[in-house]
Amino acid sequence: MISLQNISKSYQQHQSILQAVHSVSLNIDKGEIHGVIGASGAGKSTLLRLMNVLETPDQGTIVVNNQTLTTLPNRKLREARRSIGMIFQHFNLVSNKTVFDNVAVPLELTGYSKKAKVDRVNECLKFVGLEHKAEQYPAQLSGGQKQRVAIARALANRPAVLLCDEPTSALDPQTTAGILDVLKTVNQEFGVTIVIVSHEMDVVRSICDKVTVMDGGKILETVSIETEPYMI
Ligand code: ADP
Ligand code: ADP
Repeated sequence: MISLQNISKSYQQHQSILQAVHSVSLNIDKGEIHGVIGASGAGKSTLLRLMNVLETPDQGTIVVNNQTLTTLPNRKLREARRSIGMIFQHFNLVSNKTVFDNVAVPLELTGYSKKAKVDRVNECLKFVGLEHKAEQYPAQLSGGQKQRVAIARALANRPAVLLCDEPTSALDPQTTAGILDVLKTVNQEFGVTIVIVSHEMDVVRSICDKVTVMDGGKILETVSIETEPYMI
């Protein structure tokens, strides 16, 4: 479902070049929940942003959902990105839009009719248990509720892949457990392939089928793991 072949990404920092991701190859199967762990600065977040080409690699090939993203013209890339949802540590909701309108954002430039859009947003809000918050603003929600809205928004276009950058790092253990349940359901019910960058080992252990360990921009290893329940 996701294939990175010999990917490198460097950044200009002051006078020097920093190699954030260095000749990395990785395959993630359809339906997998894949964790990416490693110390701060290891390149985890860059690797995740490469998977939907939010970062353009210096070299290498990125294939997601049978599309070679690295060779697509911009318009096609924007289309392809609709099948890749993303959520973040700090939710990244639009503060002056209601919950409903936040979830509707990804549907704006699609061919959905007004009615289909409204139905789809309500369906997604129902899925995360927040239909009753549709007319509220992000500032009126708890952290866990904000992340549920972000998940609803990421699901609006029925993605094949969901990329999660530290999805529970800003949340307390109780709320974390709830979000992990939602992510598990997304995976099981819709067959969505999920990639989770996290520094929380208990989170990774409770939900991931496989884990990739990064250090210094390289992959040290990718291993299968036995899941253990997340303990609050
Ligand atoms: P992690 O997610 O594992 O903490 P990152 O992928 O965020 O690691 O960062 C890897 C390295 O790349 C770090 O040294 C970081 O400072 C650097 N880096 C990340 N993004 C940028 C950027 N936009 N500009 C310059 N350097 C960056
Ligand atoms: P349909 O597409 O005909 O509605 P599906 O069996 O594909 O039927 O989906 C059943 C339900 O799951 C629908 O409510 C649909 O919106 C939702 N769904 C399916 N795939 C996804 C996905 N990848 N992400 C989010 N929701 C999905």
